[in-house]
Amino acid sequence: MMKPIAVLGAGLAGLTAAAELKRRGLPAIVFEAGRSVGGMAASFKDAEGFSYDYGAHFISNRLAKALGAEDICRTVRHYGEAVVVNGRSRSHPFGLMLEPRYVASALKSRFARRDEGPARHAEDWMRRSYGDAMAEEVAMPLVEAWSGAPACELSPSVGEKFGNSIFKSLYLNAAAKVTQRAVCNGYTRTMPEGAGVYHVYPEGGLAKLLEPTLRKLNGAVRLESPVERILVDKGRVVAVRSGGAEVPVSAVISTAPVNVLPRIVEGTDALAPMAAFRYRPMMFVNLRFSGRAILPDTMVWVPDRSQLSFRLTEAPISMPWLAPEGKTLITFDIGCEKGDARWSMSDEDLAKACLDQLCAIYGEELRARYLGAGGTIRTPISYPVYLKAYEEQRLRFGQSTGVQGLYSVGRNGEFAHILMEDVFWRTIRRMDDVARYVGGTEAGGRPGFSLGQGLSAIGLGGASLTQAA
Ligand SMILES: Cc1cc2nc3c(=O)[nH]c(=O)nc-3n(C[C@H](O)[C@H](O)[C@H](O)COP(=O)(O)OP(=O)(O)OC[C@H]3O[C@@H](n4cnc5c(N)ncnc54)[C@H](O)[C@@H]3O)c2cc1C
Repeated sequence: MMKPIAVLGAGLAGLTAAAELKRRGLPAIVFEAGRSVGGMAASFKDAEGFSYDYGAHFISNRLAKALGAEDICRTVRHYGEAVVVNGRSRSHPFGLMLEPRYVASALKSRFARRDEGPARHAEDWMRRSYGDAMAEEVAMPLVEAWSGAPACELSPSVGEKFGNSIFKSLYLNAAAKVTQRAVCNGYTRTMPEGAGVYHVYPEGGLAKLLEPTLRKLNGAVRLESPVERILVDKGRVVAVRSGGAEVPVSAVISTAPVNVLPRIVEGTDALAPMAAFRYRPMMFVNLRFSGRAILPDTMVWVPDRSQLSFRLTEAPISMPWLAPEGKTLITFDIGCEKGDARWSMSDEDLAKACLDQLCAIYGEELRARYLGAGGTIRTPISYPVYLKAYEEQRLRFGQSTGVQGLYSVGRNGEFAHILMEDVFWRTIRRMDDVARYVGGTEAGGRPGFSLGQGLSAIGLGGASLTQAA
């Protein structure tokens, strides 16, 4: 019988990988370090009926359908973004075009810098793409807030994260108006965007999205089972160690942060360069208010280095069901470093500072509508930082981990600024390589193979659906 494929992590990427392997007739065991599945796809509801996601999350109907969760999803009717420039909120992207300085400088850069060769760093890329004025006042402060590094130290690939062209945005905006649905714009790079791809949200929170996939896995998920070691022999993965027990494997799919891999992979130093890869820590502060539509649109960007939060999200503008009627919730994203002055602020001080920031932009009268804080999430790992210093290794790692039979997928596993739909499709595609590696095309046709048999043969039972959910 074929040795199982170990999957590290039961977030979207890990569960998608395991389900796809199962569909191809390949045995997989999912090891999850935490007590529940979902990873970043997590939500909770407080006693007063406010729902919180890990950050704020928007997903697409195409992803919900692919995950078999379309029936439990509600359609999002509106989604929009704004940018605060010189104390005024401008809609994004078209409102920014009302600033003549931005238009003039963008046009100038288009014509002046045509023959300069490839951009040297992110700052260079932004100056060429948007012109000096918009690069300096909008793009650079935002990129620096979510990466914690000067734009001149970042790779030009940071630009991959930026949205669609103005013409495509015009088309998608028009499609949203006509269809009365929040048509996705700049949400995926892997799949085409168009009028038929719009935002939805699962009833009962984000984690519900993964339940159909979990059901397919039929007990192959082991909770509270961190993989402590991935054992490599002669350049190939041979086993994983979890809870002190060694499990022989035919391949390993990791969704763990890439800078963790060098610490847990034993028997090769091929992954040593990944130890230097940095993720930007982030805090998400939630404040509750009476009334709705405090922000001019669902998401507001604040490209001002003197401000605490670079992004404010009022998710109930798009998804009214996330707050009780007549009330609303604003999430403040704050870039920081673990242990720095921001990270060390108490939840009360953070809430007060966020309220001050909001009132400074949208008026002191909001204090009277403040209903208290809804909690702060601090995460040491949020955004992959594309430093130029390791760009070559990053690109190499994107092709291969350098260890035969070891694959790294998912947002932190690919070290990529990708959202859930891209995580999903890219993971599915990566399973082609895994199947090829383990000789899966032949194994897929092998008669009589059962995942349950595979698990009991190596002495592992699986977590039940209720445990895992
Ligand atoms: C602030 C923020 C906002 C976002 N907003 C959106 C949005 O609006 N729309 C959208 O589509 N996407 C959004 N995303 C992205 C989305 O959350 C992620 O792309 C997706 O959830 C990543 O899934 P994953 O499986 O790759 O990783 P994760 O969800 O992180 O799962 C990895 C799992 O691996 C486990 N693990 C780690 N190490 C080990 C180990 N050694 N052994 C066993 N288990 C291990 C972890 O416990 C975790 O459960 C956002 C992300 C952030 C940070």
